[in-house]
Order: sequence, then C-alpha cells, then structure tokens
Amino acid sequence: FKARWWALNKVKTVCSYCGTGCQLTLGVKDNKVLTTIYDENQGFHNGQLCTRGRWGYQFVNSSKRLTTPLIRKGGTLQPANWDEALSLVTDRLKTSKEAAATLVTPRLTNEELYLLKRVIKDVVGSDSIDHSGGYAHAALTAGAKESLGFPGSPSVIADIQKSELLLVIKTDAYETHPVIGFEINLAVKRQGTALRILSDKKGKLSRLPGAQTYVHAPGAELALVNALAKTIVDEGLHDASGVGAIKGFDAWLKSIENCTAEQAASQCGVTADTIKAVAREYAAAGKALIMLPLGMGYSGHGKDLAQALINLALLTGRIGKEGCGVLIMGEKNNSQGAADLGIHPTTNGLDAQAILTGCAAGNVKTLYVVGENPVVSYPNRKQVEAALDAVDFLVVQDLFLTETAAKADVVLPACSFAEKEGTFTSLGGAVQRVNRAITPLGDSRSDFDILNELHARLTGQPAYANQKAAFVDLAATTPGYTELTLEGLGDAGAVRVNKCAASFVPVVAGTTATEAGKFALLTGSALNHSGTLSLYGEGPMLVCPEGYLELNKDDAAKLSVSEGETVTVKSATGELRLKTKVSTRLPQGVVFAPYHFAESSINSVTDATAITWVSISK
Ligand code: SF4
Repeated sequence: FKARWWALNKVKTVCSYCGTGCQLTLGVKDNKVLTTIYDENQGFHNGQLCTRGRWGYQFVNSSKRLTTPLIRKGGTLQPANWDEALSLVTDRLKTSKEAAATLVTPRLTNEELYLLKRVIKDVVGSDSIDHSGGYAHAALTAGAKESLGFPGSPSVIADIQKSELLLVIKTDAYETHPVIGFEINLAVKRQGTALRILSDKKGKLSRLPGAQTYVHAPGAELALVNALAKTIVDEGLHDASGVGAIKGFDAWLKSIENCTAEQAASQCGVTADTIKAVAREYAAAGKALIMLPLGMGYSGHGKDLAQALINLALLTGRIGKEGCGVLIMGEKNNSQGAADLGIHPTTNGLDAQAILTGCAAGNVKTLYVVGENPVVSYPNRKQVEAALDAVDFLVVQDLFLTETAAKADVVLPACSFAEKEGTFTSLGGAVQRVNRAITPLGDSRSDFDILNELHARLTGQPAYANQKAAFVDLAATTPGYTELTLEGLGDAGAVRVNKCAASFVPVVAGTTATEAGKFALLTGSALNHSGTLSLYGEGPMLVCPEGYLELNKDDAAKLSVSEGETVTVKSATGELRLKTKVSTRLPQGVVFAPYHFAESSINSVTDATAITWVSISK
C-alpha cells in the first residue's frame, strides 16, 4: 500500500466477515482503508487473522460501492437524492403495514438490528422479519432457545483450549471460521486435545495430528447423535444423578428407545462399533466440547441437530462447565447478535421462505431487503428471482448493486463496518465495539442513520440521538445484555451472560431419500470466503476466484472427468456449468460446491431441503 507507516491513522475495530469476532486494527489514510495491522496484543486470538480479515478489506473502498440512492424510472435504476428515495420508501411502508416484510443480513451492528426491528415491528406493524434465509445459525439458535432458554451457545471460545476432547460436527470449521481452526490446531498440538469429527466430508481439520474423521452419509447427523446418546445411556456412562432433575428427561429417553448404534449404522455408513467407540470416548473425557460450525449453505435439520447435541451434552452433565458444552458457530460477524435480538418472525409473522412465497402469491406487497443478496445466497435461485420479480415494491439497502439490488424499485446506499459505530456479538457471546475508521463514501449512509431517518419520517421523530442511546435501550431489554454498558465493554469486549433453563427435547431423525444414479449435493463456504461480501476482497478472490464442483476422484474417473474440466450439474430446479475440482475429501456419490459466486451460482440447482440430488454430465 502507498503510505508510510507513521502516516497511517490506526483504528481498532472488529472484523466484519465471520462470527469468530477477531479484533483488528485498520490502517487508514485520506479516508481509505489501506491495510489491516497485525497486533499480537489484540483480541483472544493474539492478533492472528485469516485471509479474509487480513487481506479482504478492499470492499470498503471498492470502486463498485454504491454512493447515491437509485430509483427505478422507465424501467431502469437512476440516481436520485435521499429525500426522493426515502419519501417513496416511507409512503410504501405506511400503506403496506403487515403486508410489508424484511430480510436482513446479520452483518449489521446490534444497534442497527435493534432499530430495524423497532421500525418494522413497532412502527410499520409487520412481524415478518428474518435473517440468513432462516437457515443455518438461525435454525441452530432457535433449537438452543427451546432447549436452553436462550438462543446461543452455552460455551465460549476459550473452552476450546480447556477441553480434553473436541467433538466437531461437520468439518468445515477451518473454512467457515479459520481463526477458530487455528484455536483447534493449537489445542490439538499444544495440549494434546483429542479431535473427533463426524462429517459428510473431510476438511482441513481432518489433517491435524491424531484427528479421527468419521465420514457419514449426507443428512445422517441426527441419527448418529441420537445413537451416541443411546449408547451412553445403555452402557450407564451418563450423569445418572444429574439428568433425572432436568426437565423432559423421561420423555426424551423414551424417544431414543430405538436409536441404536446398529440402526444408525444401517443408514449412515459408519459402523456400529465406531459409533459406540466415539460415544465411550466422549463420555469418558474429563472435559468435552461439541462444536457445530454450520455454514449458510446448510438448509437441513439445523434446529433438531442443535437440540440433539444439547441433549448429548446434558446427558453427560456438560452444560455450564469449563471446557465443556456446545459451541454453536454463527457464520456471519453478528449472527449471534441477530439471534439475541430476536431478528426472526413472531407467531403472526412470516419467515424468510414464507416471505418469498408471499411475494410470489401477492400477499407480501413491499419487501425491504437490508444487506442480504437472496438471489445468490438462498436456495432455488429461479424461485427467489420469481418472487422478487412478483413483489409490488422492492427496496434494497446495500453497499453494492447486487443481483438482488438490480431488481429493486429503490436502492439505498449503505456503509461498511469501517464507517460505523456500534457493537457486534461474536459466536462466543462476546459483545465488542465497532469503531468508525473513515467517513461514509459519497452519499452513502450507515444503516443506523437510514433507519433513524425512516423512523423520523414514519413517526415524526428519530428513534435515538445516537448509537450509544440505542445500545442503552437494547441492553435494558435484551436477555443476557442487561448487565452490559458500552464503557464496560472496554477494548476487550464483554461476554453476555444468559440464564440457562435447560431441558431435554426429543428429536426424531427422519430417513433421507436417495436418488439412484444421482449425486448428493452439499453446499457451503469455500476456504477464505464468507457470504457474498468476500467477492469484493482481493485476498479471498486470489485464493478462490470462482465457483467449482468438487467430486471424489473415483467418481471423476467413472465420469471420465479430469481436474478443471467443465461439467453440467442438473437438478429438478435448474442446471449450470461448473469447473471441477477432483479430491479425496468427499465420499463417492457426494459432491460439493461453494455458494458465494453469482455467475456460477450453485443455488441455481438447490432447493430448500437438506440434500439436493443432481446429475453430472460432460
Ligand atoms: Fe475475520 Fe472470521 Fe477471519 Fe477472524 S476468522 S479474521 S473474524 S473472517
């Protein structure tokens, strides 16, 4: 970068990519973020950053940033001023009321999410608000809320180093949360922590010394976890004196009556002996931590999976103990904040999938999309595009003219994290301060300022004098945050504390239908990417510049396909052409594709079920 070290203004803040919540220092000059600075005294991670955090900051000053509002006139989006754009949005929200719906990214600050919820639920009168398609972390935290009484992990990141055994469900921790991958690496190499992985594919974690990866059939996680629990009960390895006092134990025990290791083995490709051995190891470890790093691409039984794992931890008396429990890993930087603040529909509202169905059916008249790009990141692209084309009025608030924004009636240019004040909550529950490093680019505004102005136009006055006032309000009304003050967060942040009211919840594993001659398609994060934001970062694009289809080398040989060759991937919902990556990470019959890339969007062929079956041809 072109600046002397001493000429840089250095601003401490929090990475805006994934839920790990790494702190970083931005090097700024002339209102441009020119670098991120390694500071070994910063954060729980001692300054270590992954490629995204260290080399992915270029999206902030990207020449592709939106710098003025846009309004559709005569079929095309044309530059407009804020007054025109916000007048249109205000008028539509006023008349739509409960026929308005909102999809929001969990990349916003807590203050912005809280204010958005107030504007949409309290002022407009709509309960239809959701984030990340309602999938992955949103589903996991919904499960945690039912089982624990709060929508988050009963464990923190520091538990990784204190544990004796890490049981990782799905292996993509290194891909989705690289610095957590470093933490696991440290625990394994320095403390000799045992690492056991149950996953539908192998990953970087599988290469760590002593790691055992048990690759199972896609969608078999629930059956496996229930079989672990059943083995522990049958062999008397559970916390017999503690479990009886936990609500729901007897009903849950009855629900796993038939969930034997043999029964799970018959459908998951892992032997009964192996399942029993893992159960015994997990039960015998002095301290054992379950880690659940699901990415956005997983649209299956997330809620049930979180509950099954919490049941397993409860069974062995491992909730609320150091080095133990369940660590649920939200993909986006503020996924946990969005869960804590209740950014999901209430009983009267629609979730993300129902919102899109409502758009297509004409029941949702106005759709307000804040920072999400459902065209690329939600399953079944054709259906999503049809829904967005059908809705009467589409407002998109974003940094870029995304594929979703290109369909909007009004586009509002928003700011990046580097232009914002506020807080993010990490996957370990640490609430950390986000500090402004540069002023908003062009005419763009922070989501907070846009929402505060909308509030003023809808009610006659802004909701808050500033972000600090919003934090005071949200802390007073959000469980787990009531003890927090902005000053108290300091440089290190503070972990919000939830009261645990745990109970066993029965979850039944269904059977996964297979389609002869077809491949099970897994989608998720490519190494060093996160959502669609990383497409504007130089580092992530250097490592992985385009979409691909990964398949097992024996499958590749059968199809006579070699590395880098382009193939057609076809499902019931669509088809696309992708370059191949031939590997040994996947079992035969299973293929993988990352979901980030618009031109090679794998969501052109996915549907909203756990597994999409595809055919592959040259
Ligand atoms: Fe940022 Fe996540 Fe990488 Fe940390 S692990 S630097 S929070 S993307």
